[in-house]
This record gives sequence, C-alpha cells and structure tokens, in this order.
Amino acid sequence: MPPIVRFAPSPTGYLHIGSARTALFNWLYARHTGGKCLLRIEDTDRKRSTQPAINAIVKGLEWLGLDWDDEPVFQFARLQRHTEVAYDLVKRGLAYKCYCSPEELEEMREKARAEKRPMKYDGTWRDREPADAPVGLDPVIRFKAPQTGETTINDMVQGVVTVANEQLDDMILLRADGTPTYMLSVVVDDHDMDITHIIRGDDHLNNAFRQYHLFKAMDWEVPEYAHIPLIHGEDGAKLSKRHGALGVEAYEEMGYLPEAMRNYLARLGWGHGDDEIFTTDQAIEWFDVANIGKSPARFDFAKLNNLNGHYIREANDQRLVDLIKPRLEKLGQVISPTDEAILLKGMPGLKQRAKTMVELADSAAFYIMPLPLPMDEKAQKLLDDTGLQAVALMQAALTGLENGQWTEESLEAIAREVAETNDIKLGKIAQPMRAALTGSNISPSIFEIMSVLGREQTLQRLDQWCK
Ligand code: GLU
Repeated sequence: MPPIVRFAPSPTGYLHIGSARTALFNWLYARHTGGKCLLRIEDTDRKRSTQPAINAIVKGLEWLGLDWDDEPVFQFARLQRHTEVAYDLVKRGLAYKCYCSPEELEEMREKARAEKRPMKYDGTWRDREPADAPVGLDPVIRFKAPQTGETTINDMVQGVVTVANEQLDDMILLRADGTPTYMLSVVVDDHDMDITHIIRGDDHLNNAFRQYHLFKAMDWEVPEYAHIPLIHGEDGAKLSKRHGALGVEAYEEMGYLPEAMRNYLARLGWGHGDDEIFTTDQAIEWFDVANIGKSPARFDFAKLNNLNGHYIREANDQRLVDLIKPRLEKLGQVISPTDEAILLKGMPGLKQRAKTMVELADSAAFYIMPLPLPMDEKAQKLLDDTGLQAVALMQAALTGLENGQWTEESLEAIAREVAETNDIKLGKIAQPMRAALTGSNISPSIFEIMSVLGREQTLQRLDQWCK
C-alpha cells in the first residue's frame, strides 16, 4: 500500500521555518513514493489556536507550493472519537481514573525535584478500586504505561533507540474537564487517518515512545517513525529569531522566491550527493528518508541568498516585474504601463545581480523614478567638473542619434568615439554617465540602461546636468 504521511501543525502562530521544512519532507516523501500527504490542523489547544494562524499556515504552504491530499482534518472536531478511545481503554483495564488533587501532584513534583529526577506520576490510582473514588471530584484518565522492560523504536532517521519503560509516565489521556490531551488525539488521528509514516521534528522523539504504547494498547499498527534533527543557527545554537527562526511569510517579505526556499529547505538536513541546486522534480525523484542526516542542519543565510540569486536569474522576467511592483509601490512609486514596459525591458540586466527581491526592487527603482533622481553620495562625487564635462559631451553626441538607431551597439560606438576624440578613458565617461542616469555608481552597463530608458528619457536625464 502506498505510504500516507501527514503534516500536523498546531495553529498557534505563523508557519515557522522549521515546520515548513517538516511539511516539505513529508510532501517530498509522499510525492516520491506515490503516496498521500495529508494535512491535520492540531487545534485542540482552544486558547492558543486561532483562525488567523490557520490561514497563515495554509497560505504559507501554498506559497511554498506544497499541496495536500484530501480535505484537511481538524483535530478538535474529532474530540468525541478521542474521548471514546480513552473510555474504551478504561473499560479494558488499560487506562484508569486518577483523582489526585493538585496538591498531591505538587508533592510528587517536589519529591522529584529533591531527588533530582524528572517528575513521574507515582501510580497512586493505578491499581486502586474504583469504589475508593472521592465523591464530587472529576478524575483525569491516565494510561497504564508498562513499568518494566524496555521499548525500542527503529527510527528511519535516528536508527534503533531504546528507552527503559520505568521512564515512561502514566500519561494523562483525558483531562478532568474531559478534554483529550495531545498524546491521545495524535495517536487516534494517526490511526484513523491510516498514517503509515510519521515524519516530524526530533523534539517529538520522546513522545514517540509514549505514543507507541497507546497504539499497542489499541491493537493498532504502529507507524514508521522518522524524527528529523531540528534546525540550528549558523553558530550551532538552537535556532532563534536572529538566526532566521521566522515564519514563512517573513521569508517572502525578505524577498525569497518559493522555489529557492524549497531547494534550500530540502538541503537543510537532507542531501543527494553534492547537489546544491536542483529542481523540485529532481528533489521528488531523489528524496529518501535514509539520506536525512542525524545531526542538526545549520541555517545559513549566505547559502540561501546564493540560491535565491540563482532562481532570480532563472525566473521569467514578467513574473519578476509583477513581484517587484508592489515593493516599488510601497516605496511610493506610481507605476504606469510605460514604466512597466521599461522594467520588463531592463529585467534581463537587473536580475543578474540581485540576491533577493528587495535588492531587485531597489536596483530597479531608478528606471521609473520621477526626475530629478535622488543622488547617492558616490554618484554625487562622480558628477564633479570633469564628470559633468563628460556628460555634456555625451549629451551633445547622443542628440544626433535618431530613435531608430538607439541600440546598445550604436550607443557604445558613440561613447567610444567621444572618448577617443576628447582623449578621455571610456571609464571616465561611463561612470559620470551612470551617476547622471541612475543616481548611483552601481548599475547594469550604461549602454543597456540607455537602451532600456529610450532616447527621450535618456536625454531628459542628461539634460538635467547640462545647464
Ligand atoms: N502539532 C505538533 C506540533 O506542531 C506536531 C505533532 C506531530 O507531528 O506528531 O509540534
């Protein structure tokens, strides 16, 4: 039977970059194996789960280009089913009602602290007669975890991991108010959704041992586990905001393309030989859980930027124009159809240098800015007396060039001619021209710029420096 995997975010915030990678790995696995990738929204924490967070997660997945099969499952809607399973376990003597008061539990906690061991429920109600139950008190339902022996999981990433059962707690399945815990809901849902492989962060590895026994108690098949190491920062420390522990939407805002993110996130903990740049189809073809590394991957912005630069260069020009338009508008630009045509014409040159869409928009702005252009300091310096002279010479020469001859080649020929006639180095012409045309000292070639701007706009810009 083809595998069925799931991505199971808790909608308490944006789609965090680590969760996005988990989603990607599940998706790649499903698409590679011809199985299914399901989406389960784990919204049982009613206080912290919000509709905006659900929307942000869905939007984040869609932006990344990850789709899912079937309708999403909302965990909270399945509460009844989770409760039934808990009572079924009680009926079969595999779970029990516990009436410990908060004070008693605090005492156990204190004792554990004093003995410097993790808190473990001491089993007070494990084997007590139901008749002992105090009146008027709502119990919690606890799972009867095995107390002796050990549990071994053969994790597809972590390998064979064994835990002594005495470490396993009689975890709570239903709270005193009757609501199911994450531990119960997750197992029931994974079973009911026929999940065959659980691919998730290794912060859930401890949970796997607890969940394993619940599957067993219900006589359900235990899925395969693949616990992926978490993402760390460049310095090896746990990923924090400073390292890039942000929501996916922040990456969109910072100007990363979804295909670059997919490629980068896929490489973050998984690899196919030395391949750094690959298409999503290749990732689907190559993906294998066995090639997920055991040690934490490090998030590296420089690598991401390089990849993003690659995908920007590969991207369709019109798409890039569409993507920078809202950014330029935010900077206060009004974009007319003529501006758009100029941006499109300039895009092949512009996209060679940009590492992010923010850079691309910034570098494109000069093409459509109203005159006079703002000048940066270096541009200003280039337009000293000598610079202005060169601009004036070029302006005079260019006026003689007709619209129909306005090509990069003839523009370059004119500049060479001006340089030669006046015994000036070409660079001494190009740099002040660049400053006058763009307001900056960095840009694509001035011949390209003049050709993109067209005769009228070019001469208008030069005229400003020739009075
Ligand atoms: N909802 C859990 C989380 O967001 C994931 C649970 C799981 O994958 O088993 O961390």
